[in-house]
Amino acid sequence: MREKKKLIAALLFSIVAIMFMGCSEDDSTSSDDNLATGTTDISVLADLFYHSDAVTFTFDDEWVTIRSKNLPDHKSMYYDENDDLYEAYDEPNNPDFFKNPGSIEEQNLEFKIPRYPAEASSKSSPSLGPMGVSINSISFFNQEAAGDDDIFEELNTFDQYEGHPAGTQYHYHIEPVWLTQDMTGADNEAFLGLLLDGFPVYGTHEDGVEITNDDLDDYHGHFGVTNDFPDGIYHYHVTEEYPWINGDAFYGNPGTITQ
Ligand SMILES: [Zn+2]
Ligand SMILES: [Zn+2]
Repeated sequence: MREKKKLIAALLFSIVAIMFMGCSEDDSTSSDDNLATGTTDISVLADLFYHSDAVTFTFDDEWVTIRSKNLPDHKSMYYDENDDLYEAYDEPNNPDFFKNPGSIEEQNLEFKIPRYPAEASSKSSPSLGPMGVSINSISFFNQEAAGDDDIFEELNTFDQYEGHPAGTQYHYHIEPVWLTQDMTGADNEAFLGLLLDGFPVYGTHEDGVEITNDDLDDYHGHFGVTNDFPDGIYHYHVTEEYPWINGDAFYGNPGTITQ
């Protein structure tokens, strides 16, 4: 009898111990998750990457993967002259306009971006080259030019849609006017793409009012409701004024780019 009682007591103790361990394990997992990731799911943006010949958007529990050929769906003087999308251009209002020696060629870019972006505890700067990707497959570059080049000189080489190539890689440093002003359905308040930290980039306007640097923080964004995130999300805006898309650092923890 005493043996039996002991056994039951031991069994009960084990059950309680297992339950307790189970609980504490669950608790620590969820609090770790809250530290490592945000609560807003950016996979809702998948269908907005509309240039599906050139850009695909897939995701798992942790990451969004965007593969891009980086080919504009608009005309450019940087396409080969035999390409249907080639169009000659000469900036009529700019005497300093010139075409750089680059050209548009298909790329093989892969952006691995946090699906639940969160503010970084220490902020890191984008490197030269792609820092994000637009809904029509084009890389966003930051406000710096490579080497000793001057970004304000480089503005003179932008094509009819305000992009240009570095070598064979086409990119936007400033407002992608095809998306905000020119294409059918262009919207200056629309979602334009993602930076590598998973936070979205929106147009030059919000609620009918132009956004200026004064409305934004050092990283060139702010928190608020957008069309795609009714509960609000941190987001970047493209502005007319320098630094155009990003400040000197990502707000969140950046993912990785392979190219
Ligand atoms: Zn450039
Ligand atoms: Zn905003």
